[in-house]
Amino acid sequence: MGVKTNRTAWRSLMAILKSAVVLLYLRLTGGPRMMTDNIFKKIIDRQIPAKIIHEDDQCLAFHDIHPQAPTHVLIIPKKVIRTHADIAAEDQMLLGHLHLVAQTLAMQLGLTAGYRLVLNCQEQAGQTVPHLHLHLLGGRPMGWPPG
Ligand code: AMP
Repeated sequence: MGVKTNRTAWRSLMAILKSAVVLLYLRLTGGPRMMTDNIFKKIIDRQIPAKIIHEDDQCLAFHDIHPQAPTHVLIIPKKVIRTHADIAAEDQMLLGHLHLVAQTLAMQLGLTAGYRLVLNCQEQAGQTVPHLHLHLLGGRPMGWPPG
């Protein structure tokens, strides 16, 4: 076995170990933690930058900073709603609007073969930012069930 093969095997082993440590951490801690800071509100208020692709009076859409697919866009309401469990009857129209914006963006971004919308509600489901958001993912085949 050459030096190059050894190095590749070592790297693969390290990657597997790293994933195992991350999974063990998530299992022990009950999943990723929700941030205390609402960074999406800061994006709405232009206090921190983002690659914004849509804005109207009710919502904002921008590219995710750690994309999980070739296209990964976040659609967020301007109204601060912490989680899906916090939506109220008065938010019905707003929720419908977010979905119509997601549909329009999916077509604009060329996701004609399909796309996935994800909404993580609270920590056990993987929500990390305490501001309701839709993930619009596409550009590759998606597996099921989700992780
Ligand atoms: P969730 O885990 O469902 O709460 O999703 C939060 C998403 O926000 C993750 O996919 C992050 O990668 C993304 N994210 C965090 N900070 C930023 C940021 N500053 N700009 C764009 N996306 C972000």
